[in-house]
Parts: sequence; structure tokens; C-alpha cells
Amino acid sequence: MHEPRNDIDLSRFEGILKRRRKAIVDDISRELEKHEDQRFADLIQQAADPDDRSVADLLVDLNLSELNRDVEELRAIEYALARVRAGSYGICRACGEPIPEERLEAIPETPLCVECQSRAEEARDARTPSL
Ligand SMILES: [Zn+2]
Repeated sequence: MHEPRNDIDLSRFEGILKRRRKAIVDDISRELEKHEDQRFADLIQQAADPDDRSVADLLVDLNLSELNRDVEELRAIEYALARVRAGSYGICRACGEPIPEERLEAIPETPLCVECQSRAEEARDARTPSL
């Protein structure tokens, strides 16, 4: 277990993540309204309020493939917010080293440092069969 980062402003990053979360939820909500399915839009707005409700899970239940990218980002943000609460935000999930602040500025929801991220991508590429 690590101590929470004290060299970065955690509450500022939490604010960034929450604003980003809200923007994506609004985005998804607009997308759903375009489908003229008010049921979905209502669901999203309900889910946007309570902090403990996972919007990502709700959207997976709706199974809307065109929203997959938003859902994925939302899931990453919710995970990052959970890590803020747990005191592990900004610490690489794989190697346990602090993630440089510039990286967190660029990708606030990332759970991995650059090295572990590229290792994860290499591993993923290796699993993908080539044609
Ligand atoms: Zn790492």
C-alpha cells in the first residue's frame, strides 16, 4: 500500500475528472436524445446525479455499441475517481511508481505510467492475430 500522493493537488485532479465525467454524460445524453429514445436519456440524467452510481455499468446494460468509446472513457474516469477516494490516484497500477504530473495533466484518467502503458499495449498487440 502507498501513501496518497502529496506532491500533486489531488482535489484539483478530482475536479478535472468530475468535469470530464459530466461532459461525457452530457454527450451521451445528447446522443441518446438523437435516437429519440427519451427512456435512455432520462436514465442517463438520473445516473448523472448520485456519485456512487456507475453510469458506465448502466450504459453497458443498455448495450449501445455506438457509445462504446464514451463508455470506455467513462469507465476509466470512474475508476480514476475511485482511486482518488482510495488514495491511490497518480500511482501506477502496474509498477507502483508515481505517474509524472505532466502525464496526469494530459490524461487525467490514466492508471499507468508511460512505460507500463506501452508494455500493456505491446502485450495487447501480441495477442492480436496478424492477418
Ligand atoms: Zn508503471
